[in-house]
Amino acid sequence: MADDTAGRPGKDVQRGSSGDGRASDRTPGLFDAVAGFGVSFSTMFRKVATEEYPEKPRPTAPRFHGRHQLNRHPDGLEKCVGCELCAWACPADAILVEGADNDDSPGGAGRFSPGERYGRVYQINYLRCIFCGLCIEACPTRALTMTNFYELADNDRSKLIFTKDQLLAPLQGGMLPPPFPMADGMEERDYYQGKVSGATTAQEAYVDARDSAGDPDDGGASDGDAEAPGNVGARVPGQHDVGHTLHPTAAETREGANP
Ligand code: SF4
Ligand code: SF4
Repeated sequence: MADDTAGRPGKDVQRGSSGDGRASDRTPGLFDAVAGFGVSFSTMFRKVATEEYPEKPRPTAPRFHGRHQLNRHPDGLEKCVGCELCAWACPADAILVEGADNDDSPGGAGRFSPGERYGRVYQINYLRCIFCGLCIEACPTRALTMTNFYELADNDRSKLIFTKDQLLAPLQGGMLPPPFPMADGMEERDYYQGKVSGATTAQEAYVDARDSAGDPDDGGASDGDAEAPGNVGARVPGQHDVGHTLHPTAAETREGANP
C-alpha cells in the first residue's frame, strides 16, 4: 500500500538519516553516537580561544590605534603648542583645542611649553573619535600620539570626553610640573633638536619657589576640569578596576613612532 503522506507539505517525517527528506526507518546505531562525540573530542585538542578578559587583557598589535596621549619634553614642558592643526584634521570633529600665550613675565600665568603658545584647553570626544590617526599625522610637534590603550567604554557619555589633564603624559624621572621657564640658554628649536635632556637646577629652584609661594602646579589643565593638580596617576573614566593605570605603560605608548 502506498504511503499517503508522501509529497504532502508538513507530513514528511524524518525518522532516519536518509537526508533526502524521505522517511527512513533506520535506527541510530552506536557508531552514530560515537561520531557525534568525535566532534567534541577533536575540539579538546585544539588551542583554546577563550580570552580571560579583563583579568588578562590581550596584547594589541604594535601599531594599534588606541587612546591619545599628549607628550612632554624631557624637562616636563608640554610639546603641544596649541596650533589646533589636529582639530582641523579630525574628520569626526572630535577634538577641541584652545591655545593661549605662554607668559614668563612677573605675575604672568607662566610657561607650559617652549615657544610662544601652549594648549590651554584640550579635549577629545571618544564618542566621536574613529581612531583614524589623522590628528597625530597633522601634529607638527609630535605632541599628540596614540597609545595601545583601548578600554574606552562607559555608561556615562560625559565621561568619554577626555580633558587635557587625562591626556597629558605623566611626569617621568627628570621632569617637573609646568609652568616654569625654558632651560637656560635654550630656545624652542633646541627642544625639538633634542638638546634638552631633563630639568636643570635652575628650573628645579623655580618650581620649588613657585610651590612654596602657594602657587602649585595645575599641570596646564586649566580647562574647567575639577581634577586634582596635574592629575598624574588618576583613573581613566570607564576603565575597569583590574590594575590598569590612567596612563598607558611604556609598551602601550609609541611616542615618536608613526601611527
Ligand atoms: S583619531 Fe581620527 S577621529 Fe579620532 S581624534 Fe584623531 S583625527 Fe579625530
Ligand atoms: S596636539 Fe599638535 S596639532 Fe594639536 S594643537 Fe597641540 S601641537 Fe597642534
